[in-house]
Amino acid sequence: MSIQSLIPTYICDIAPYQGGKPISEVAREHHLEESSIVKLASNENPLGMSPKAREVILKSIDQIYRYPDGNAFRLKNAVSLKFNLHPESLIFGNGSNDILELASRTFLKVGDEVIFSQHAFAVYSLVTQAMGAIGVKVPAKDFAHDLAKMFAAISPKTKMIFIANPNNPTGTLISKEELKTFLTKVPSHIIVVLDEAYDEYLEIENKSESFSWLSQFSNLIISRSFSKAYGLAGLRVGFGVSDPEIIQFMNRVRQPFNVNSLAQDAAVAALMDEAFVSESKILNNNGKKQLESAFQRLKLSFIPTFGNFISFKVDKAPQVYEALLKAGIIVRPVANYEMPDYLRVSIGLKEENERFIQALEAII
Ligand SMILES: *Cc1c(COP(=O)(O)O)cnc(C)c1O
Repeated sequence: MSIQSLIPTYICDIAPYQGGKPISEVAREHHLEESSIVKLASNENPLGMSPKAREVILKSIDQIYRYPDGNAFRLKNAVSLKFNLHPESLIFGNGSNDILELASRTFLKVGDEVIFSQHAFAVYSLVTQAMGAIGVKVPAKDFAHDLAKMFAAISPKTKMIFIANPNNPTGTLISKEELKTFLTKVPSHIIVVLDEAYDEYLEIENKSESFSWLSQFSNLIISRSFSKAYGLAGLRVGFGVSDPEIIQFMNRVRQPFNVNSLAQDAAVAALMDEAFVSESKILNNNGKKQLESAFQRLKLSFIPTFGNFISFKVDKAPQVYEALLKAGIIVRPVANYEMPDYLRVSIGLKEENERFIQALEAII
């Protein structure tokens, strides 16, 4: 008897998630000092975390022996106040990845179809496959979601649609008008999960205003993250917003203590620290210009981005990736996103971007 024969085929077939390489691993493998390594591989906030969040974490640390608040009462109130949302329309997750998984575990059964775009965030296909549901990958248009084709892919078996806006790793954005028209057309028995992990980086005119659509679309689940602009990736906290009835069912499959106490407290503080988020956004806009002009100078094509990362095209991407590692710069290969000729670089501090540009120029 083999272990594999005990495991459903759809689980055996899951390709493991490939994350950004940790600094410690690159230091070990390439005999480099950790402090000399620049990690631009996981779209983390190069400014670190909000100083206010840090202060709160230090204060909260002595409470770690206690279980966290399973209902995230304070955090729920803070999010509800900030975004003018009903507390019952909120659910919190161990990162927004948890929200994506809770959505799939609540709604999907074996054989259901789930639509997402080619080049879309890898977690959609993972959480789909983990439920024995069938991922329907729709070809992208110029690397972006093709909503017309995604609509055409709807079948009687379709249960869910995932949309990343902006998308990672392409950085592409769907306009709010287009997105709203799409939602209006999708039948209400199909759940639409709208992943807005990078919303804080958008200019006001590009934001989708999706929260204001919830009253109109009872099949909409929006996810937000504290991992990017809020700078709390290591704590794992995100949230979902939807119709209270949906939230109530999602809560049934949620682990009772899925968001740890430090994460809850830090998220409240980070949410209030608007100065930090706007500083992060300004830094990101400047870094974007810096990287874009370098790519232009080096005659490398790139996908214009709405996020805190840029995917750029380069000959022999796997070799360039390895050579960058050797130089102590970690970026992200995106071959598993069907983009074998591209690498994705997170937008870092000015000096980090500069080191990346210099290393890249030397390599090519
Ligand atoms: C980074 C990212 C997330 C955030 O995941 P967390 O679990 O909140 O850290 C979600 N969706 C997309 C598209 C991302 O790139």
